[in-house]
Amino acid sequence: MKQLSDSVATLSGVGPKRVETLKTLRIETINDLLTHYPFRYDDIQEKKLEEISDQEKVVLKGIAISDAVVNYYGFKKSRLVFRMMVDQAVITVTFFNQPFLKNKIHSSEEVAIFGKWDAKRKSLTGLKIMATQQQEEEFAPIYSVNKHIKQQTLVQLIKQGFEGYGELVEENLPDYLLEKYKLMPKKQAVKAMHFPESIEENRLARRRLAFEEFFLFQLKMIQLKEEETAKEHGNPILYNVEELKKFIKTLPFELTNAQKRVANEICADMRSPYHMHRLLQGDVGSGKTMVAALALFAAYSASYQGALMVPTEILAEQHMESLSELFENTPVKVALLTGSTKTKVRRQILAELVSGEIDILVGTHALIQEEVQFSNLGVVITDEQHRFGVNQRKILREKGNHPDVLFMTATPIPRTLAITAYGEMDVSIIDELPAGRKPIETRWALPKQLDSILETMRGLLNQGQQAYVICPLIEESEMLDVKNATEIYEHLSAFFAPTYNVDLLHGKMKADEKDTIMQRFKENETQVLVSTTVIEVGVNVPNATMMVIIDADRFGLAQLHQLRGRVGRGEKASYCVLIANPKSEQGKERMKIMTETTDGFVLSQKDLEMRGPGDFFGAKQSGLPEFKVGDMVADFIMLETAREEAINLWKRPEWIHDKNFEALAKSIDSATYQLNHLD
Ligand code: ADP
Ligand code: MG
Repeated sequence: MKQLSDSVATLSGVGPKRVETLKTLRIETINDLLTHYPFRYDDIQEKKLEEISDQEKVVLKGIAISDAVVNYYGFKKSRLVFRMMVDQAVITVTFFNQPFLKNKIHSSEEVAIFGKWDAKRKSLTGLKIMATQQQEEEFAPIYSVNKHIKQQTLVQLIKQGFEGYGELVEENLPDYLLEKYKLMPKKQAVKAMHFPESIEENRLARRRLAFEEFFLFQLKMIQLKEEETAKEHGNPILYNVEELKKFIKTLPFELTNAQKRVANEICADMRSPYHMHRLLQGDVGSGKTMVAALALFAAYSASYQGALMVPTEILAEQHMESLSELFENTPVKVALLTGSTKTKVRRQILAELVSGEIDILVGTHALIQEEVQFSNLGVVITDEQHRFGVNQRKILREKGNHPDVLFMTATPIPRTLAITAYGEMDVSIIDELPAGRKPIETRWALPKQLDSILETMRGLLNQGQQAYVICPLIEESEMLDVKNATEIYEHLSAFFAPTYNVDLLHGKMKADEKDTIMQRFKENETQVLVSTTVIEVGVNVPNATMMVIIDADRFGLAQLHQLRGRVGRGEKASYCVLIANPKSEQGKERMKIMTETTDGFVLSQKDLEMRGPGDFFGAKQSGLPEFKVGDMVADFIMLETAREEAINLWKRPEWIHDKNFEALAKSIDSATYQLNHLD
C-alpha cells in the first residue's frame, strides 16, 4: 500500500544517486518531497531601480556588459563580479563564494539575478541566478536546490509525487478550527504551495500551513512541558519563610516590586514537588543576581545545596564576591570553582561539597565535571544560559537529585521568540530597574571623531572616573580581533600617557592574566580598559562611566545593549559613544535607535525585526525551531492565536472525538524541533 512515508526512491527517475542528492535537501520520503515548499515565488514586478529600497531583495533583469571576473581571497573565499545594464543604468553584481557561476555569465547576454540591493553603491549582492525564460511566467515557484539537482527536475518530481500520492494527504487540524479561522483544507493547501491557480490561492495555502505549523509546535511544547515538570523525584524544597524574610531585611536596599514578584514565582516552584524549569529575564542591572541569591538562600534554609553556573571566570569571580558579601553575616558557606582553581583547593572543595559543608558553589563549566559531586543539590541556577552548550546544561540538570533549574538571561527576549524558543519553559520577567538609576546618554559619532571623543574621556578621567573602549569583532577570527584590539590599545596608551594607565583585555589571554587585568581596573590602577567583547556579560565596575564602542555597526543591537550595560551602574551620569560609519540605511537606523532608547525589550524587538530570528541569539546557537512556512516575526499574530488555540485544545478532553484527531496526534508525535535547551 502506498504511504506518504514511502521513500522517494519509489518515484521513477530516482536512483540511488538522486536519493543521496535529495537527502542533502532533507528530502527522504514522499511527504518530505510534497512539503519541500518553494522558498519564494518569482513574482516579478517591474520595479525601477530608484524604487527599490536599500537592502531589499529583488530580481533584476538586464544585459551583462562584462564577463564575470573571479577573485580568490582567504581560505575558500571568492568574489565574482560583473557589470550589468538595467534600464539605462549600469550596476555591479557581486557573488560571494560561488566561483562556478562564472560560466553562466556572458557579456551581451540577458541575465536575471536575484539579490540584495545596495541603493547607495548601486550594486547588487547576488544570491541566485534566475532562469530568464522563467521570467515570462508571472508566478513561478522557486525551490532551494543545489548544484546536483535543477529546479525543473525537482518540479517534475513533485508533480509525479502529487500524481501518485496527492490523495493521501490527510487533514490534521480539528474541524472547529478550520471553520473558525476559515483555513484551507490541507490537501488543497499543500498543492497550492507548489502549483497555485492564483496568487490568492497561494496566499491562503500559506496561511493555513503557517497556522498548522505554529499550532503543532505549541502542542508539542505543551506536551514537553508536562513531561518535564511531571517527572518523578522532584524535590519539594520546604524553605523557611521566616529565615528568608529575616535575610531580606538585612539587604542594604528594598527589593523592587518586580524582584519580589519573580522571587515569589521561583519560590513557589521550589516548594512544589515538580521540577522547576524556569527562565528569568531581566535587563542588565535589574537585579537578577539578587533574586538568584534569594533562591539559593531559600534552598539553604531547607538544607539543600545550590549551584550558580556562569559562562566566564570573570563573572564567576564577581558572583562569588557579591554572594560572599550578601551572606557575610549568615552561616551560608560559598565556594568558587573554576578551571583555574588550584589542585589543592579544588580537592578540598570537592570534599566539602560531598560532606555538605559547602552550601553554595559558584563556578564556570568546571562545575559540571564528573568529579564534582554534591551531597544534596536542590537548585541550579545558570546565568546567561544561551552561552552554555546543550550537553553542559543537560549534565547539570542531571546532577544530584534532579535539582530545580533556573535559567537567567539579561538578553531581553521579544515575546515572539520567548514563545518559540522557550515555549516549554515558565518565564519570569523583571521589568523594572531599581530606583535612582540614571539613563546612559548615548551618542553616535564617526571614526574621524575618535580623538575628540578621547578628549571628552580625558575630562571624565580627570574627575577620577574610568572608561571602557570596546573593539569590534572581525569576521570569525579571534586572532584578528586580538591584532585589532592591540592597535587600538597602543593608540590609547600613547594618547593618555603618562597621566593615565590603559590595559588590554581579550579572549586569547589566560584566565589569570584576565583576572589580574580586571582586578587592576576594579581598583582603579588602570583608568581605561580596552577590551574585546569578553567584557560583555555581567562585569560590574560602578566607577566606569564612559564606554566607547568602535565599529559599533558590527554588533547586533542586543549585544550593544549588553555592552552598554557595563556603564551606568553607579550614581554618576554615564555615557556611551558608538563609533561607526555604516554604509547601509539599515546600519544607520540601528545606530540611531541605540541613541534613542535604553529599553532592552524595545531594542531586542527591533533587532529581531531587522536581523531576523536566526541571528538574534547568534547564528551558531539560535535554538529556534525551523518553520517551513510560518515566519515567526511577520506572522506574529498568527503565532499568538495558534498558541491560544493549542492551550485551549489541550484543556478540552473531548477533542479526541474530532474526526481528524488521529492525524493530528500523529503529526504531533512526528514533529521534531531542534531546540538548544531541550536536548
Ligand atoms: P543583573 O544581574 O540583573 O545585571 P545585579 O543583580 O548585578 O543585576 O544588580 C545590579 C546592581 O544593582 C547591583 O549592584 C545590586 O547590588 C543592585 N541592586 C539589586 N537590586 C537592587 C534594589 N532592589 N535596589 C537597589 N539596588 C539593587
Ligand atoms: Mg547578572
